Amino acid sequence: MLSYPRRKTKKVMVGGLAIGGDAPVVVQSMNNTDTRDADASLRQILQLAEAGCEISRLAVPDMEAADAFARIRRLSPLPLVADIHFDYRLALAAINAGADKIRINPGNIGDPERVRQIADAARKAGIPIRVGVNSGSLKQSLINAHGGVNEAAMTASALDSVAMLERFGFDQIVLSIKASDPALAIAAYRLLSRKTDYPLHLGVTEAGTLREGVIRSAVGIGTLLAEGIGDTLRVSLTADPVEEIHAAYAILKSLGLRRRGPELISCPTCGRTAVDLQKVAETVEEKLKSIRHPIRVAVMGCAVNGPGEARHADIGIAGGKGEFLIFRKGEILRKVPQEEAVKALMDEIDKLCASLN
Ligand code: SF4
Repeated sequence: MLSYPRRKTKKVMVGGLAIGGDAPVVVQSMNNTDTRDADASLRQILQLAEAGCEISRLAVPDMEAADAFARIRRLSPLPLVADIHFDYRLALAAINAGADKIRINPGNIGDPERVRQIADAARKAGIPIRVGVNSGSLKQSLINAHGGVNEAAMTASALDSVAMLERFGFDQIVLSIKASDPALAIAAYRLLSRKTDYPLHLGVTEAGTLREGVIRSAVGIGTLLAEGIGDTLRVSLTADPVEEIHAAYAILKSLGLRRRGPELISCPTCGRTAVDLQKVAETVEEKLKSIRHPIRVAVMGCAVNGPGEARHADIGIAGGKGEFLIFRKGEILRKVPQEEAVKALMDEIDKLCASLN
C-alpha cells in the first residue's frame, strides 16, 4: 500500500498520549452524554475505548459538570478533554478536576487576561490547550478584513489565538479550524498547515447523520491526511459516538495510516453472483466487530474472479451455486454449503487469529 508522508509537527502530550511529531494519527470522539451524569458519561467512555477511541471530550457547561468531570476523570481509562465556552472559570475548574487537555475558543472567552489565567493554569498542570476555530463563530472584524467566512479569515483567527497564547508564554497548543463545508475545511487546514507547525486536529464539523456525515468527513479528513496534514481527528456525526470511531479507523485504514481490527472487503456483486452475498457480507461484518487482529477478510460473489480479485486478503469466501469456496491468501482451502459458509469462515478467522497471538 502507498504511504502518505506526514507533515512534521511539534509533539504535544495529552495524558500519556502524543499528538504530532512522529506519533500515529490519534482518534478522538466526544461524549454526547450529560457530563453531570457521571455514570452515563463513564459508560460511554468505556464503549468508546472498547471501539478504539484514544481521547474523548466532554462538554463542561457549568460548575456541576466540572465537579462531575473530576469523578469521571478519576475513573476514565482514556485521557479526557474539557470543552469550554465563554466562562474562563469553567476552564480553571476543569483543569483542577484533572482535565488532560482544554478546548477553548479564545475569541469567546473574552478578556485576554482571562485567557492568560487559563494558560497559566494549563502550564502548571502540564496540559495542552486546543484552540478550536469554527467557521460559524468567527469575529465580524476578521470576516470583514478577509472578505467573508473563508480560509483566510479562519486561519487569521487561529493564528491570532496562537499569538495570544504565545504572548502568555504558552506553547503546548493543538489547533483545529473546522467548517461544515468539506471544501472550506480542506482549504482552511491547507492554509493553516503552511503557517504553523503546531499539531492539527482535523474535523468537518456538523457533518451530518451517519451515512452523509461519514462521506463528508471521509472526503474532508481523507483529502488532508493524504496530503500529510493532520495529527489527530474527530469524525463528527449525529449518531452514537462509537460510530465516529468506526468511521475514523475506516478513513485511516483506507490510507494505510492506522490498522486496527479487521478490514472487510466485499465485491459489489454482478450477474455471476448466485448467493445472497449482501446478507453474508453483513453477517460477517457484524461478527468481525469482536475481532481485534488487523486481518483483511474478503467476501466475494463468485469463484471465477473472487479469490483472484481478493488475493491480498488474508482469508475469504467466494460464492458458487449454493456453496462457497474458502480461500486463504488467494489459495482455495475447501468448499462448504452456503448455510455453513459464515461459520466456516469465522472458524478459519479464529484459527488465523490464534496463530497471530
Ligand atoms: S467477485 Fe465475481 S460476483 Fe463479485 S463482482 Fe467480481 S465477478 Fe462479480
